[in-house]
Amino acid sequence: MSILTVEGLHKNYGPIQALKGISFSVPKGAVFGILGPNGSGKTTLLGIIMDVLKASAGTYKLFDEIPAAHHRRQIGTLLETPNFYHYLNAVENLSIAAAIKGRGENDIDQVLHTVSLDQRKLSRFSTYSLGMKQRLAIASSLLGDPDVLVFDEPTNGLDPVGIVEIRELIKKLNKAGKTIIMASHLLDEVEKVCTHVAILQKGTLITHGHVDEILVHEDIVEAGAEDPARLLAVLQEYNGPTKVYSHEQYVELLFPKGVANLASLNRFCFEKGITLNHLRVRKKSLEAKFFELTNASTNNRTPQPIK
Ligand code: ATP
Repeated sequence: MSILTVEGLHKNYGPIQALKGISFSVPKGAVFGILGPNGSGKTTLLGIIMDVLKASAGTYKLFDEIPAAHHRRQIGTLLETPNFYHYLNAVENLSIAAAIKGRGENDIDQVLHTVSLDQRKLSRFSTYSLGMKQRLAIASSLLGDPDVLVFDEPTNGLDPVGIVEIRELIKKLNKAGKTIIMASHLLDEVEKVCTHVAILQKGTLITHGHVDEILVHEDIVEAGAEDPARLLAVLQEYNGPTKVYSHEQYVELLFPKGVANLASLNRFCFEKGITLNHLRVRKKSLEAKFFELTNASTNNRTPQPIK
């Protein structure tokens, strides 16, 4: 079953085209990352799905059906920082949230346990760290035990410890059977948490699919020697790689996934009189892929092919 299917979605704000015909689907059980830089249309997309905004054109389905209120009741959301009362504790704040949502009154202890706030549930909200505040917001989205969670930038503003806590929580929720759709501009975040990704740029969908498929069609082998120019010349004679190029202090070779054979490469260099002082396989990271796809290059992230 598909949790969400989006077809040809457009959104215009006056002359601004925030979404330009987006189509993808989110399978049940996925952690689906909507990834893109600021202004690429992520929040607009989530707003349409949650009926906060109207699409200018296109359609979408929830649970393979035309969306209705009862579908959205199966979706817990964290779209913006929720307004918790600073002078109330977690239990009191969630009681109010449950009353407003009309669901989850009996879930409060359970959801506070899930987000590991049980020990501090009677402390005032004003005494919470940012990470705890965000976990309380996620607890609120869990009221009523929805099957699907939609989070907009769930780690925004958190320190590294808070980011790891939310990341672990998202994985735990997914293991417990929740499908999670999350917008993020943090490539690393998506790579570490998501099973699927849709990459947006300026309202256009650049690519989407399983993270493993999007990321790793290729293995990159880094090779280093005392004389990099000579190494480069020698490796251009080596059979197997699709590209050989200099990148920073190493020569890099692109191989189709799983084809690289380090022992054979090492032997080849040795036979040509070159002793390697560095040899390793590096998976293409989502970051490298993202910059490749969006054609943006910063800090030499995009290597220049020579062959
Ligand atoms: P961010 O990560 O900065 O939140 P985003 O990827 O979520 O960005 P959106 O907030 O959906 O992107 O914005 C997409 C485009 O639509 C941007 O150019 C933005 O300026 C524009 N936009 C968003 N909301 C409005 C609005 N209410 N009125 C006019 N333009 C808007």
